[in-house]
Amino acid sequence: MKTTPSAEYRKLPSVDALLRRPETVELIARFGAEQVTDAIRGLLAESREAIQRGETAAEESSLAARLTVRLAAHNRPSLRGVINATGVIIHTNLGRAPLSAAAAQAIQRAATGYSNLEYDIDAGQRGSRHTHARQLLRELTGAQDALVVNNNAGAVFLVLAALCSGKEVVISRGELVEIGGGFRIPDVLWQSGARLVEVGTTNRTHPRDFADAISGETAALMRVHASNFQQIGFVTKPSLAELVQIAQAVEGAPPLVIDDLGSGTFMDTAAYGLAPEPTVQESIAAGADVVAFSGDKLLGGPQAGLIVGKTDYIERIRRHPLTRALRVDKLILAGLEATLQSYRRGKTAEEIPVWQMIAATPGGLQTRAEAWRERLTAAGLTATVIPGQSTVGGGSLPGETLPTFLLALAVPRPDEAAARLRQADPPVVGRIQQEKLLFDPRTVAEDESDALVRAILGACT
Ligand SMILES: *Cc1c(COP(=O)(O)O)cnc(C)c1O
Repeated sequence: MKTTPSAEYRKLPSVDALLRRPETVELIARFGAEQVTDAIRGLLAESREAIQRGETAAEESSLAARLTVRLAAHNRPSLRGVINATGVIIHTNLGRAPLSAAAAQAIQRAATGYSNLEYDIDAGQRGSRHTHARQLLRELTGAQDALVVNNNAGAVFLVLAALCSGKEVVISRGELVEIGGGFRIPDVLWQSGARLVEVGTTNRTHPRDFADAISGETAALMRVHASNFQQIGFVTKPSLAELVQIAQAVEGAPPLVIDDLGSGTFMDTAAYGLAPEPTVQESIAAGADVVAFSGDKLLGGPQAGLIVGKTDYIERIRRHPLTRALRVDKLILAGLEATLQSYRRGKTAEEIPVWQMIAATPGGLQTRAEAWRERLTAAGLTATVIPGQSTVGGGSLPGETLPTFLLALAVPRPDEAAARLRQADPPVVGRIQQEKLLFDPRTVAEDESDALVRAILGACT
């Protein structure tokens, strides 16, 4: 029997009827009466439009179900946890370094109570936030002094603005790099008020190129670690120690040697089967005056820019007005200090997730991938475990890989399956290669395994 639109409109429940349903009462407790009422009005308005297009009235129970889904989606935080099955350990798009349990606890403590952030407990008076990670950074790097700011991009900018503004900074043409996110060394230098003096060529820069460029206007010789690309073949550049030697040979006021290490690491990456990445301790030992590096790349801590070096220069940087603009929050300081304490205890590979992931053995990874495979094939999916490669990422160790084992899933339309996996809760991000979905256990925490398997089953069966 054909229904008339007006009869259909009358079948729609009232706002009040929907508000009285027991599941709606629960929704009001979770999301507040105003949001729930607004969402009900919105759903009913859409239902009336549907009727106008010739559809029949939605059932009350189906409207109630849609209400729950809509409110949950609307109230989901924008920044959410994601399962990283890409095998890229320091994935900048996915938040770089996951923090250690100790760092997370320290952040929790600092977040929910008061702290001595800028209070000298012994003296009972105002203190400085710059004291907190300082001693640890001195011990771990061998530097005289240390300062923590918001991130390494900020650190490099601050160092140049505080120590080189209005003067010249000499850099090799092979190191005028772009890190990503618009951070280009020549632009940063210009913005800081320092003048760039390029020396050498793209592939070859010699010690004498630096020596010849030094004038009364030179504030610093700078090295920038080519974090995210590699030069191979007919390539040379002076070592940091050579730059220090050249600077110290200058009579009168020798230029500074500034080192932007990018990632920076305290650990010997070669001990983990990776190419050697310059360590912070090596830069300090080589005589660099100021060294800047990231908190959330290979260090495995929260986002921060760490500046270590000689007391006079760190003190000048600390007094610069930009330091206030780039200062770190108490939560970061708490997480950073806890991370650095893991290094001091010699528990890096045990406690810091980035290093746990780097240290994970192919055998252990294979076992985990096999466990996933068993559960998925039991549900009728076509899954295999294949050897593959993980990468460190985060603009460090370009081209370097770690042997791993991947779960490879054969599905009809991999692009569409990957899109469904991104809609899972939590979203899962993997890789697609040769028409297969690939999942690398190296970057999936043990306690995320269940959620990963459930997401795959939900998206692919
Ligand atoms: C990553 C990087 C930066 C920027 O560090 P952030 O912590 O991301 O701000 C600066 N310089 C180099 C060489 C880098 O690799």
